[in-house]
Amino acid sequence: MDIELKELIDRLNAEKCLPHEGWVRLFDGFTDEEREYSASIARRIADEKYGKNIYIRGIVEFSNYCKNDCFYCGIRCSNKNAQRYRLTDEEILQCCDEGYETGFRTFVLQSGEDPKYSAERMCNIVRAIKTAHPDCAVTLSLGELERGDLAELRAAGADRYLLRHETATKNHYEQLHPSFMSFEHRMKCLQDLKELGYQTGAGMMIGAPFASSDTLAADMEFLGRFKPQMVGTGPFLPHKDTPFRVCPKGSYELTLFVLSLVRIMLPNVLLPATTALGTIRPNGREQGVLHGANVIMPNLSPTAVRKKYMLYDNKICTEDSTSECRFCLQRRMESIGYNIEISRGDFCND
Ligand code: SAH
Repeated sequence: MDIELKELIDRLNAEKCLPHEGWVRLFDGFTDEEREYSASIARRIADEKYGKNIYIRGIVEFSNYCKNDCFYCGIRCSNKNAQRYRLTDEEILQCCDEGYETGFRTFVLQSGEDPKYSAERMCNIVRAIKTAHPDCAVTLSLGELERGDLAELRAAGADRYLLRHETATKNHYEQLHPSFMSFEHRMKCLQDLKELGYQTGAGMMIGAPFASSDTLAADMEFLGRFKPQMVGTGPFLPHKDTPFRVCPKGSYELTLFVLSLVRIMLPNVLLPATTALGTIRPNGREQGVLHGANVIMPNLSPTAVRKKYMLYDNKICTEDSTSECRFCLQRRMESIGYNIEISRGDFCND
């Protein structure tokens, strides 16, 4: 193993931060050896904090209408080939009910930025879920909202919010998004979420177009400063109907390495092995867990709409039902010595 890189990993473990050049050195120089070394530290930390238990979150992808136009995303508004759909409030609740029966105690409501679901409507949905299932957590992933709306949703009972920062470098953000979207606004939302008492999730795609060791270093520095309770990160995967259709996918090994480094830097973080990681490799999510992840987020959406929520090509689990996904994951986790835990699985700081 490269002694200088090993020292950087050890220093990250001891100090929970690295200088910018240290991150760049790691990303430019790592091989399987350094990745496996960081995985062994990361997994030890995750086992100490969470044992052999993996939390599951059921995602309901309730609308793929989106007013935004992110260059990487298959449900961007300019994609005229996307078949759009919306679930009714009753359908969303039914997905949660079915999820509850199968053992889910966190529901993640995710969508494009769809103005048909006003803050008032979402508040009613959140309240209905909380009334039906008072022992469950509700996570929202609705994109950027104004602080007032986020405050109302929090008051209605929403516990957590996922809003990946996508990249911590303004210039890079502008290469991934149209000019009407704003880096500052996304960052302001993340700040608002934290101040309003949400367990907040940030994160980035690995190997997105124009990403470099330098932008990834900036992402790690941002995560170290912001200290989100959750970090969602998976490889960039191209979608055939986007401007990035010809761009190469992100690196599988780099994604795993980043998962381990995030775990080492933020020991208590809730860290999913993402669907994109399971898409780039058949056992990607198992490897994600072995690199320090402790959360898996299977789909609870009705099978009939799953293929329409295509953020990138070849997304897995679009043919399966809620209970098929649930039990498939249980087998996958047991095959590597882990159990699925049935509880809300809140962030804990000790
Ligand atoms: N509209 C919500 C939810 C977005 S989809 C929001 O803006 O937060 C959830 C995440 O999927 C995005 O944050 C992005 O990081 C990821 N994603 C989108 N397109 C992708 C692609 N082509 N490859 C990999 N991940 C992608």
